[in-house]
Amino acid sequence: MNKPTILVVEDDAPIRNLIVTTLKTHDYKYLTAPNGGEAIMLASSRNPDVVFLDLGLPDMDGIDVIKQIRSWSNMPIIVISARSEDEEKILALDSGADDYLTKPFSVEELLARLRVTVRRLMLVSSESASDSSVYENGKLKIDYSAGCAYLGDEELKLTPIEYKLLCLLAKNTGKVLTHTYITQNIWGRSWDNDVASLRVFMATLRKKLEVLPDSPQYIQTHIGIGYRMMKAE
Ligand code: CA
Repeated sequence: MNKPTILVVEDDAPIRNLIVTTLKTHDYKYLTAPNGGEAIMLASSRNPDVVFLDLGLPDMDGIDVIKQIRSWSNMPIIVISARSEDEEKILALDSGADDYLTKPFSVEELLARLRVTVRRLMLVSSESASDSSVYENGKLKIDYSAGCAYLGDEELKLTPIEYKLLCLLAKNTGKVLTHTYITQNIWGRSWDNDVASLRVFMATLRKKLEVLPDSPQYIQTHIGIGYRMMKAE
C-alpha cells in the first residue's frame, strides 16, 4: 500500500487543521468532513484507508457514523473524542471502532495509532493475497489448519480456550477488542463471571507467550476496556 488516505471527521476547525497538518507533514493523503453526513458520503464515495472520527458532531452522533460505515465496510475507524469515560470508549469499540484516542491528544500518539492501524491493514492484505493459513507476528506463529501455535521453534502448550483467545486476538491484530466482544466470541455470552475468567485465561496465556509478562510484546491491556494484539516490530 502506498500513501494511505485518511478521512478526518472533525467539526472543530483548529483540531481538524492540527490533524491535517500532521498528516501532510508525514506524507499521508487526507480528506476532511466537518459533520457526520459528509463523512458517510465521503467514506462511501472515496473509500479512504482509515477514518479519524470525532464523536461530538453537529448533525449526528459519531457512534451512528460508525454503525453506518460498518453496515458496508470494515475500513479502520480511530475515534478521537473528548468523551473519556470507559463506557463511552467501550460503546464506540463495540459499535465497530478499531481504536480510541482521548482529547487532548499528542501528535506523536496520533501518529503511533495510525502506524498500528496501517500495519494491520498491510497484514490483512498480505494474508488475503497469499490466502495463507499461517499467521506470523514477530516470533509468534499460528498454524490455523494444524491448530498449533509456536514461539520461535517452541510449540506453545495452550489449553483450548487459550488457543481460541490467541486466534481471536491474532485475527484482529492492531484492533482493541472489548471484554464483551472477546467473551461473546469465546463463550457466546458476556456475564461478569466470564469477564473474570477472561482475566485468568489472559494471565495464563501471557505467561506462555510473553518473554517478559510485565512488559508484554504481543498482548496489550487496555484497563477497564479490553485487549489488543500488537504487531511486533
Ligand atoms: Ca466535536
